[in-house]
Amino acid sequence: MNDNFSPLSQPQPVYIVDTTLRDGEQAPGVVFTTKEKIAIAKLLDEIGVDQLEAGTPIMGGAEAEALKLIVKLGLRTSIMAWCRASINEVKVGLACGVDALEISAPTSDIHIVQKLKTSRQAVLENMVEAVSYAKAQGVYVSVGAEDTTRSDEAFVIEYALAAKKAGADRLRYCDTVGIIDPLALCERIRRLREKVPLPIEIHAHNDFGLATANALAAWQAGASFISTTVTGLGERSGNAALEEVIMALKHIFKQPVIYDTSKLKPTCNYVATAANRIISVSKPIIGEALFSHESGIHADAALKNPATYEPYPPEEVGLERHLIIGKHSGSAALRNRLGELGIELDKATASRLLPAVRDFAIKHKRALTGTDIIYLYEQLVPRP
Ligand SMILES: [Zn+2]
Repeated sequence: MNDNFSPLSQPQPVYIVDTTLRDGEQAPGVVFTTKEKIAIAKLLDEIGVDQLEAGTPIMGGAEAEALKLIVKLGLRTSIMAWCRASINEVKVGLACGVDALEISAPTSDIHIVQKLKTSRQAVLENMVEAVSYAKAQGVYVSVGAEDTTRSDEAFVIEYALAAKKAGADRLRYCDTVGIIDPLALCERIRRLREKVPLPIEIHAHNDFGLATANALAAWQAGASFISTTVTGLGERSGNAALEEVIMALKHIFKQPVIYDTSKLKPTCNYVATAANRIISVSKPIIGEALFSHESGIHADAALKNPATYEPYPPEEVGLERHLIIGKHSGSAALRNRLGELGIELDKATASRLLPAVRDFAIKHKRALTGTDIIYLYEQLVPRP
């Protein structure tokens, strides 16, 4: 069997920069308490995420205090603060004790002219000034090019070269409104890398459902840092999801990832609860229904070898496998489930019971519980 779809024959560097605590919390209506922020930081550190973008210090108050407390945890991961290209904001960020700063300025004309009402030249100058100041304080600096995908490519190159000259450690390439496709992004990243010798981070939004695909495409083209959020939480339809990116790196690209994937589901559950968001049962990687098999053919195959309809075992992400008895169930799954409930069923009786099971599922529009199944069984085969 040839399951090596990836053109990558060698492991390629990858670093996860998780921004659940910054971009994730910017999702409409989402607020994390300081206690929740600390818990999320610890969970991400346990997974082994390389860098946490943990807040926006210029907001002051609880935001800045939470950042200081996260820094004091002494986690293994790098702690980064987000600021705009201003020396004042850099100073406020550094006062939180972080070891890394994201210094962000827009590079698209729509942002420069309509939002900031300034010029490309002024954006360049402010960025260079802020980066030079931050580097002189000895901190790691990522320079963000907000709305990169809608920016003039020549200006992005000019901006990146200026950032590099000012001492920046990497460039954040932002698909701020999630507007690019993976193949076009690959080409853009390749062209940028040819011109600018600076590590690239891809920050992808999910407006067209392409955030994870775009993040991975940019990584394939040589962007070694991937920005993520837990469950994909973020502005509008969110960002590339941490759990999707890590599992795709591991299973699609066969990369030797060091992240503890077994903590993905509990971490997603915690963040969803703190964000007051519901995780869809079919959400990739973490949905409760991903390892629930109902249809006769699938359930029968799962009993023989789960790999027939599962890309990896559920335990890898902290989920469990369930065989669901419902409208589409077959007699093999029904016999298996009744066996678990302590009732050995012969094939003939299973075939007689199955229509009642299906009628029940249709009538109630749901799967059957163990109690439901035993009830139907006892209707058919009364206790002696
Ligand atoms: Zn963003």
